[in-house]
Amino acid sequence: MTRSTILDGNSFSTTDADHLPPEDHALIARRQRVLGPSYRLFYRRPVHLVRSAGTRVWDAEGREYLDAYNNVASIGHAHPAVVEAVHRQMGTLSTHSRYLQRGVLDYAEQLLATFPQDLDTVMFTNSGSESNDLALRIARHATGGTGVVVTAEAYHGTTSLVADVSPAMGKDYVLGSFTELAAAPDAYRQGSGHQLGAWFAAQITAAFHRLRARGIRPAAFLADTIFASDGVLSDPAVLAPALRATHQAGALFIADEVQPGFARTGSAFWGFARHDVVPDLVTLGKPMGNGIPVSAMVGRRDIVGHFGATVPYFNTFGGSSVPIAAAQAVLDVIQQENLPARSETLGELLRAGVRSLAERHPAIGDVRGAGLFLGVEIVSDRQARTPDSVHALELVNTLRDLGVLISVAGPHNNVLKIRPQLVYTEADIALLLERLDEALTLCAATATV
Ligand code: PMP
Repeated sequence: MTRSTILDGNSFSTTDADHLPPEDHALIARRQRVLGPSYRLFYRRPVHLVRSAGTRVWDAEGREYLDAYNNVASIGHAHPAVVEAVHRQMGTLSTHSRYLQRGVLDYAEQLLATFPQDLDTVMFTNSGSESNDLALRIARHATGGTGVVVTAEAYHGTTSLVADVSPAMGKDYVLGSFTELAAAPDAYRQGSGHQLGAWFAAQITAAFHRLRARGIRPAAFLADTIFASDGVLSDPAVLAPALRATHQAGALFIADEVQPGFARTGSAFWGFARHDVVPDLVTLGKPMGNGIPVSAMVGRRDIVGHFGATVPYFNTFGGSSVPIAAAQAVLDVIQQENLPARSETLGELLRAGVRSLAERHPAIGDVRGAGLFLGVEIVSDRQARTPDSVHALELVNTLRDLGVLISVAGPHNNVLKIRPQLVYTEADIALLLERLDEALTLCAATATV
């Protein structure tokens, strides 16, 4: 079976099933029976969740976990403002975008005010995949090309078009003939700042040349602006040169903000803003509705208008009343509670804490990230920077047993991916660091036995 970094990195294997309680065993058997083999569960001992609130989730035995992973429930699980908004809207009016409604316009204006002025048009969808699919269609329409450049371990979603530009699907997955890969901007191994930016731009240019050499006209460079599946790569000097290289190739730059958007990466609010660039198109999703499926694509009017002038768009649920009410409640909370600033300062606190753990734990090779999106690279040899995915997975599973949920990312699955909710307290950060310290100690002991 294909092994996918994004789906198989931290996944349960049936070979671990013997160690599970009988009830979990039965649930897994039922899942396999009715959902088929495509689905993956997290952790060697899957977590059977029954309830969530704020920064915590609880399993069927009543055990509490600190959630340091779920970036959908970004303003906290079961946030009362979202619960209330969805309940109220569902009981008042639930319909789609072919009727006049004020809510979607109020939200669109408030959302667009968080973007640079040139990005002035928004279209609504139901998932990050759908947003990327729409952005690619629009980029193709605008450029007349079909070719797409993505980074080597990129993940952009599940539609046919978007899976074809998602190498993280696994080595055996056949990507689109219109796809070319560029090495990701890994500051830990390639140097940082301007040097890294120039190197990365050269990768993008070369990838577009390879497309042209195959007779394929470029349409887009599509990139997650925190490069989550490439291992959480946060050097902010790389997208400006990459954008110039993209435009020189006659293509558009699509910023995938599904993971980094909505202040996840700190006070800049959008990941691309940390890089000081203005993309041609931007895709949003995950935290936008704090659990209600709602997503969007934002772009420049000239590009989106060119598409819209000839291609009509209707999306039954995209932009409909209830998801928009959820999105409105989320944006209000983020802005009223000043969560971008909180993401920035708590992120600094967390990275400083992990860096001080690195003084005692040689397995930590690199600590990076922005805001509350942290990447901790686990290595077997600091000098050689050798990725150690076995150790990283041991840490993820040990933390799970200690009541903290995180996962892994990167081409070698050796980067701890830590994404606390934006409403973490300093006490939550302290608990996370304490448990990480404990897990590092426990795993170092088993590694030397
Ligand atoms: N882009 C990125 C960067 C993602 O991480 C994901 C989901 N993991 C998607 C797009 C697809 O989003 P969705 O699962 O909502 O379709």
